[in-house]
Amino acid sequence: MNSTTPQPEDLDTLSLQLSRPVRDVVEIPARCTCGNPLVAATAPRLSNGIPFPTTFYLTHPAATAAVSRLEAAGVMAEMTQRLSADAELAQAYRGAHESYLTERERIRGLAGLDPVWEIEGISAGGMPERVKCLHVLVGHSLAVGPGINPLGDEVLGLIADEFTPDTCVCATSWDHEAAVPQRDLSRHVRRGNQGFARGEKSAAPHPASQPSEETA
Ligand SMILES: [Zn+2]
Repeated sequence: MNSTTPQPEDLDTLSLQLSRPVRDVVEIPARCTCGNPLVAATAPRLSNGIPFPTTFYLTHPAATAAVSRLEAAGVMAEMTQRLSADAELAQAYRGAHESYLTERERIRGLAGLDPVWEIEGISAGGMPERVKCLHVLVGHSLAVGPGINPLGDEVLGLIADEFTPDTCVCATSWDHEAAVPQRDLSRHVRRGNQGFARGEKSAAPHPASQPSEETA
């Protein structure tokens, strides 16, 4: 399956990959060669009203684990330093920031949402000046393809021994037989109940935000 439109089985797979229920998924912008999602594109405002800046969320456990190891090794501080020393890199990274915002607007349009003023001009992962989350950068690179996010591309190169989008390691990367995590355990719901947003409901939730009735 190669469609970018989330199917019910995609939402189940995402929930298994993340060990929590996913919601407000608007698009599957990157897939493994086998068809499983690598990245979920989430609406910039969740159906509980919370603004959500991380449009592209890296979900594949083999990828997230490899990226976490790089983060633990201190790659983010090194990259942030390079941004202040390398004008060309800094300019390309700013371009990645702009791409992120443009893509978020496209996803917002797909979701049929009003502009999300709370996160206007704010991308994710520390862009455009810093590097604060490599998962965000890799999610972006996988979603838009090579040549847009220089540091996301670089991280993909660094983890190529453990994960590439061209080699399927899905069978050993998560428990395919586990029960699909259900929606009421979502940390986003809990966070929403704690305040910060007003809990406005979007009038027409995207169909893909509905939990699947199918369980393994
Ligand atoms: Zn696969």
